[in-house]
Amino acid sequence: MSFETLGLSSNIIHSVKKLGYLKPFPIQEQTIPVILQGKDLMGIAQTGSGKTACFVMPILDKLQNTEIKKDRNIQVLVLVPTRELAIQIDEVFRAFTENLKREIRTMAVYGGVSINPQMKGLYGVEVLIATPGRLLDLIDHNALSISAIQHLVIDEADKMFQLGFGEEMDKLFGLMPTQKQTTMFSATLDDKVAEMKQRLSKNPTLIEI
Ligand code: AMP
Repeated sequence: MSFETLGLSSNIIHSVKKLGYLKPFPIQEQTIPVILQGKDLMGIAQTGSGKTACFVMPILDKLQNTEIKKDRNIQVLVLVPTRELAIQIDEVFRAFTENLKREIRTMAVYGGVSINPQMKGLYGVEVLIATPGRLLDLIDHNALSISAIQHLVIDEADKMFQLGFGEEMDKLFGLMPTQKQTTMFSATLDDKVAEMKQRLSKNPTLIEI
């Protein structure tokens, strides 16, 4: 199978080639068409499986066909447990935003650093990668809104609960619209992850690698 047959458009394929990806990994073959179709997804996958590109490619492919937003409403929210993962995912988004039909601004926000530069930088950001605590702080400061997101991604969901972000995620879920596409990834489908999956999506496509 090739990236072309998954339904991705030529400008995304161009970046894929530039990155030196020769063909899709198995998890990418299974998840990319599902996300492109707008369906909710629960993927069970480990770090290193190539799961980041599973959501980055189809999300940008769809977002580039929408009108540019110049405000503080986030379109795509990626929730992650750690600062390292936030930075890493933002880098993958940036590698794919170079060659799109229009400019798409992405940003990673996380705790442990000053909040002011993050607040200033958020205007016009459409794709936000965030850790839960700092995201709540930024919302409290009116630096952004997640009330109109189109797409929610939760990466390493099991780790979110292991690190004690359950309550913060609950608060955040209450600030999001019910109508949205949801993509979840976790290394394991334990009780807490299963409960969250049930809350966020009634019948997501389950893909296990
Ligand atoms: P991830 O699990 O998303 O952190 O990805 C693990 C590594 O695999 C990263 O270094 C990616 O750049 C790389 N990668 C992802 N998809 C592909 C692909 N289809 N072909 C080659 N490398 C890839």
